[in-house]
Formats: sequence, structure tokens, C-alpha cells
Amino acid sequence: MENWLSDWQTDVALAACEQCDWLYVLPPSRLAGRCPHCGAAALAALDETTNKPVYTHPPELVLPFQATPRQAQQKVLAFAKGAWFAPADLQGERLNGRLQPLYLPLWLVDADVQAQWQAEMGFDYQVVSHQEEYQNNRWHTRQVKETRIRWEPRVGTLQRHYDNQVAPALEEQAAIEKEVGRFDRQGARPYQPDVLTQAIARLPNRPPDDAWPDAQLALMQAAGDECRQAAAADHIRQYHWQPHFANTHWTQLLYPIYTTYYMDDNGKTHTLTIHGQTGRLVGRRLASMKKARRGSLAIGAVAAALFIVSFILLLAGLVYEVALAMAGLLFVVAVVTAVAAFIPILVAWYLNHHSK
Ligand SMILES: [Zn+2]
Repeated sequence: MENWLSDWQTDVALAACEQCDWLYVLPPSRLAGRCPHCGAAALAALDETTNKPVYTHPPELVLPFQATPRQAQQKVLAFAKGAWFAPADLQGERLNGRLQPLYLPLWLVDADVQAQWQAEMGFDYQVVSHQEEYQNNRWHTRQVKETRIRWEPRVGTLQRHYDNQVAPALEEQAAIEKEVGRFDRQGARPYQPDVLTQAIARLPNRPPDDAWPDAQLALMQAAGDECRQAAAADHIRQYHWQPHFANTHWTQLLYPIYTTYYMDDNGKTHTLTIHGQTGRLVGRRLASMKKARRGSLAIGAVAAALFIVSFILLLAGLVYEVALAMAGLLFVVAVVTAVAAFIPILVAWYLNHHSK
């Protein structure tokens, strides 16, 4: 069986995460790390011939990292620093030690398209009406402009070539895009083997056959938008087409992110992701309920001590009247402190239920 890893033209290995099933091509030095996607398990090296993935080819294009590792580390430090009642594991330096550069795949599809289409085109037009208003003891006439849409049915044919329509190469693409954001595809460079001397690459789990319906949808949207422009319309709806495709060409593009993770009180891992171009960090900043509870108990203990002292002063007040006033004052302070004891738990609870 051929060794497909040699296509990547550099010393790389195949590894998988048993927890989330993600498959990676990576430099052997990264085999010791944890899964950069879920952080929940160590990576396991796989034999590349007996475990051949659904898609094995190296990418044609790579978007380079624009955020440097140093910038990513600073984002992580700021994230950790701003955490209230941070879990013991959420420490900037520790998270930076786990920071890994990771490339994720995306398809760019080119195709010749020949199609018959029909749609309803919408044209904006203005309607002017007048409203009578009574103000300052007299009537005023106000002109009101309103935009309405006139819909017209249209049919046509289309024959042209499309380049770089985006289709997902990962099942998780929509979720990733929603969380991390989009990437600027300008500045993509041809694949050079040295991009994998440090970074890890995720292999596509949706090969072209599987992603083709999504690519067709992207092509249809591009075509619909062009038909709208050709008709000089402002809107389009009910676009239907009978397309024929030829000369489809698929390009795999890798886009860059950094990931790291921390564990909460219960040992569950939470991944932080940093956009490789903008340096924006996304991830949940959870509070440790354990730590918050400890804080609440400490304040509660102070409140209990104050109650006891005020009770002793109350007893003393039976003999010395001046002690009564002090007992009353201390009692009020004790009540305030007791109420304050709930604050750490409430804050931690709020953070954990409202973060993201
Ligand atoms: Zn994983």
C-alpha cells in the first residue's frame, strides 16, 4: 500500500483523538500533546496504511498565521487574569504551555455552470403620502416617503465559470464559523511543507463527494445574485434552476487558529480558540464553584463570630447598659455580613450560567 503521508513532502505522522475522533497530520514532535480540538485526551499515533482516512491529500492553499504566538499568549494571559474565582487550572502560563497552532480545512470549488433559471425579482419604489398632524394649536401636513417592493417573474439562461465557491470540508464547519468567525481568504499561499514544522493540520472529514451538495448551494446563491444584478433588481426570491456542471475543480484551503484548554473543578476540559488572523480569543470563562463556596464560608464564619459577640454583649447589657447599644450595632453588622456571604456563590453561579 502506498504511503500517502509522503505526499505532504515533510516529516509528518497521522494521529487521532479517541475522545472527539478528530484526525490530524502533524510533525512527530506534536505527538506528545493533547488533542487541540477537545483537549480531553492525548493524541494516539495511527498507522497511516491500516487507518487510511477518507481524504488524505495535502492542501493546495494555506492562509498564513497573522497573529503571532506571542500575541496569542498575551490574549490567553489577559483571559486568565480577568477570571473571577478561576478554577485552579485556569492559569495564564499553564494555558500558554498548552497553546497549539492548528490549521483547519475548507473547500474552494470552481465549476462551469450552464443553467435555466426562474425567479421573482423585486424592485424598490417609493410611495409618497401625507399625514396630518395637530401640533402647537394648528394642523401640519407631513410628507411621508415609504419604500415598497414590486415583484416581477423572470426567466433566463446562464452560462459561465465560477471560482472559489466555499464548501465545508468539516462536519463541524458551521459551528466553528459561528464561534470563531470568518477568515479573510485574500493572502492565501500555495502549500509549502514547512507550514507543518510547527503546526498541526486537521484532515477533511467531508471529502468532495460529500461536500458537493453544499458547493451546489453556494454556486446557486452566487448565480442567483448575478441574475438579480443582471435584472438590475434590488431583491430576489423563489430562485429555481436546472443546472449542468462541468470541469469542477476542488482546492483545499487551510485556515489558521490557535487552541488551548483548561479544566474546571470536575476535570472537564474547556477549549479556548484564537483566530489565527485577528487574534480574537473565544471560549468560556468559568468560575470555580468550589472556590466561591470557600469564599462564602469564610465570610459566613465572620458573620457567625459577630453574632456570637453581639449575643455576649447583649448578656453584658443586663449589667452594663452601655453594652446594649454596642450589641445592637454589632448585630446589624453581623446581618449585613451574613447577607454578603452569599455574594461569592451568586457571582460564580451567574458567571457560569451567563458566560457565552
Ligand atoms: Zn479531541
